[in-house]
Amino acid sequence: MDVPFINLPAQHDSIRDEIVQAMLSVLDSAAFAGGPFVERFEKEFAAYCDCHYAIGVGSGTEALWLTLLALGIGPGDEVITVPNSFIATAEAISFCGATPVFVDVDEATYTMDPSLVSGAISPRTKAIIPVHLFGQPVHMDPIVSIAERHDIAVIEDAAQAHGAQYCGRRAGSLGLAGCFSFYPGKNLGAPGEAGAVTTNSLELAQTIRMLRDHGQASKHNHKLVGWNGRMDGIQAAVLSVKLKRLQEWNTARRTIAKLYWEGLSGIDKIILPIEADYATHVYHIFAIRVPNRDKLIKYLAKLNIQCAVHYPVPIHLQPAYKGLGLSENKFLVAEKCASEYVSLPIYAELPDDQVSFICDSIVQWCS
Ligand SMILES: *Cc1c(COP(=O)(O)O)cnc(C)c1O
Repeated sequence: MDVPFINLPAQHDSIRDEIVQAMLSVLDSAAFAGGPFVERFEKEFAAYCDCHYAIGVGSGTEALWLTLLALGIGPGDEVITVPNSFIATAEAISFCGATPVFVDVDEATYTMDPSLVSGAISPRTKAIIPVHLFGQPVHMDPIVSIAERHDIAVIEDAAQAHGAQYCGRRAGSLGLAGCFSFYPGKNLGAPGEAGAVTTNSLELAQTIRMLRDHGQASKHNHKLVGWNGRMDGIQAAVLSVKLKRLQEWNTARRTIAKLYWEGLSGIDKIILPIEADYATHVYHIFAIRVPNRDKLIKYLAKLNIQCAVHYPVPIHLQPAYKGLGLSENKFLVAEKCASEYVSLPIYAELPDDQVSFICDSIVQWCS
């Protein structure tokens, strides 16, 4: 049995004709950069996220960066986030000249520990970026109320959480803005690079729209120094096709998570992910924690089961962030988890018998 970590061809098989049609309609109308396909997807995605606006951009990283720029965040400012995320979260902060300030995560949920946020706020703090890591929404209410008290913005990094819910509300609608990635492997993936910002703020939406299009307020009227950060038509057209399946695919991921839970519970060595009572988790990643995880990964690889690690080195310990002067033992939970995570295969098309095979193989390794 061969179990890949991710299987996009299997996903595309089920909707191949629709995808091809969508791509051809972009080709025939030559609406490649921005344009009607992007506008349509923006409306659909905003509605899906229960937001007034969605702005399509070039990637998730760009969604975060342009949002921070639109809020006027720059040199001398601080933005609070977590060290256990994809590096893009911190890069976006650094790329507008601000400084990332990390707080540790909660050991049960792997997301920002709200009790640590107040202590990280300084007069320079301009925003907080909680990350809905692995598809589980952060415990947002306490973070949003701290932010309101200090008059700072909350920007969700929802790049792994399309469709996830917090107390029945959609990721992307929980702060001032939500930043999404449509990198091919995400729960909602484009056939290339793409991202979006969701918001209920008209002012923010307008500023990001300008920034992603060379600062243009109207043609040849460049009100701001902007950038080329438009989403392209092919990505948008295919995303519209896939958005219709997102709910069904997320439900399938949740079913697989349940199978993993049934197959792997009660093993001392393994810590399984939990779904918080306020959350509807969408399992972008199903990460278990095991001591000696490299050995388990090798063992499973021999059985042709591909696993991954998200992420083996927390951001503050990456060479790129040496300049922050943050040493080891600074964020104990994030560091411990980073050394133990193993991401198991999870996607809508993963057959039940393969999940059983993975569970049985792990149980065997543990015994
Ligand atoms: C994927 C991802 C990003 C970046 O998105 P890109 O589209 O790859 O630029 C940002 N944050 C998190 C948590 C991600 O998983």
